[in-house]
Amino acid sequence: MSSTISRRKFIQSSLFAGAAFGLGYASSNILKANNRFDSIIKGGVIYNGEGGKPFPGEIGIKEGKISAIASSLGESADVIIDAKGAAVSPGFVDIHTHTDGNLFESPLGDSKIYQGVTTEIGGNCGSSPFPTTKWQSIGDFYGALSQQKLGLNYGSFTGQGDLRQFVVGDKDVRCTDEQLEQMKSILAAQMEQGSLGISCGLEYTPGSYASNEEIAQLCKVVADYKGLFAIHMRNEDDRVEEAVAEAIEIAKKSGVRLQISHLKAQNAANWHKAPALLKQIERAASQGVDIAFDRYPYIAFSTGMSTFIPLSDRDGSKEDIIARLKDEAKSKKIGEYALSRIARLGGPANVVVTSCRVDSNKRFIGQNVEQCCQLTGKEPWPFIRDLLIEESVSVSIIGFAMTEENVKMFLSHPLAMPASDGSVYSPVGTLSESMPHPRSYGTFPRFLGKYCREESLMDLSTAVKKCTSMPASRLGLKNRGSILPGYFADIVVFDPATIIDTATFANPHQFAQGINEVMVNGVWTLSGGEPAQKRGGQIIKLL
Ligand SMILES: [Zn+2]
Repeated sequence: MSSTISRRKFIQSSLFAGAAFGLGYASSNILKANNRFDSIIKGGVIYNGEGGKPFPGEIGIKEGKISAIASSLGESADVIIDAKGAAVSPGFVDIHTHTDGNLFESPLGDSKIYQGVTTEIGGNCGSSPFPTTKWQSIGDFYGALSQQKLGLNYGSFTGQGDLRQFVVGDKDVRCTDEQLEQMKSILAAQMEQGSLGISCGLEYTPGSYASNEEIAQLCKVVADYKGLFAIHMRNEDDRVEEAVAEAIEIAKKSGVRLQISHLKAQNAANWHKAPALLKQIERAASQGVDIAFDRYPYIAFSTGMSTFIPLSDRDGSKEDIIARLKDEAKSKKIGEYALSRIARLGGPANVVVTSCRVDSNKRFIGQNVEQCCQLTGKEPWPFIRDLLIEESVSVSIIGFAMTEENVKMFLSHPLAMPASDGSVYSPVGTLSESMPHPRSYGTFPRFLGKYCREESLMDLSTAVKKCTSMPASRLGLKNRGSILPGYFADIVVFDPATIIDTATFANPHQFAQGINEVMVNGVWTLSGGEPAQKRGGQIIKLL
């Protein structure tokens, strides 16, 4: 069995638990001191997250940590889980989510814990709940979150859009030197309080009004803390190659570690660009840029309907934007832009409305724009314009604009990892009211079930690594993402033969199948497919 692990790991393992890998149970110092575990998982095949060959074995958990891995650990534990026939892997780390405030609605993390996600990373695409008037700092936000009984671990980036909004405001202006210094100092304070890095959402305002130089200056602060720069690029369709080059340039200038978020080549006219994007990324890696990317395992994206308005017309407050939509001449021009974007997406039938707040508009949820036009008797632009006005510009949409071939090409790349780009949702309560993209419920089981098992894109050990140690190491998380002695006991027991997503675009609020046991920091959070009484989630900090 020792041939399945590297010598370095072998020595590391034996330091913590000499019993591991055939050294003999009695030789472990830890176990001599106190040989009763809180939990033992036995009978399963261990995929330890490092990408090597899986091996049968037992895992002993004590005080929230993995304290022993061995061929046999006896029966001395409060809880013994029989994982016969199952895969035992580290908990999945979702490096790109928008969960944030949703944890106040579902502290258990419903749609994610049922996928085996044990660590959820928010504050992406330039948007974080801080610094804002509600939460001035990540410390304030974490303080409020830690009052919740979290089912999973949560950590966050600092959103560059919210940082700029806080200091510069919502206008399309250059920042002054003083404002830049202020943003840098606020960002440094967030890093001190545990922020994992900075995220950008450069298709959204006001983050998009920052120059690349301004962003590079902020990234230098993050680089000093060895944090990560997660970028939703300025463009993901017609100018996506330029956008990738820009992201790499910012990383080179600032020395920051780079994570390209939800890599895509959107719209049929750009599908052929996928191999070129991967070449750009590989070239940067070969030049020493610390780069990787994530991608959700679906062909449809999800965003705000406001992205149909040109960036220059999204300047200012919501009231400013609504005034432009109501102005006949301006609305006509905005409409031309919106319709050209919709045409590039393949037409109104490819755009589905997924959330509305106004009661009379809720009938549009789940309908595509073509169907909405039939319901209302309106043409596409007047329908979209009226909806944006009535909903104060906040309408979510799903767009079907990518190709299966590219999804596979991206996911199987050695620098790729799956990530949901979704959020914690729940089939009950307020979070059940919208029609989220099914990725919020299905990303990891779909990756393991459809793309690994059914499509054979990679072996299971590689797939598990992409869900666990890869994102953990990108985030700089210490002692998470692998099943190794001394690591936090974030563990998933799943059936590799049946694991699969069940959430669909028409019926998204459905839990995945094939995952029955999920442990977070040594606490069984999901047991026998049901939420347990105890929860072990913690706030994750970089420092
Ligand atoms: Zn994004």
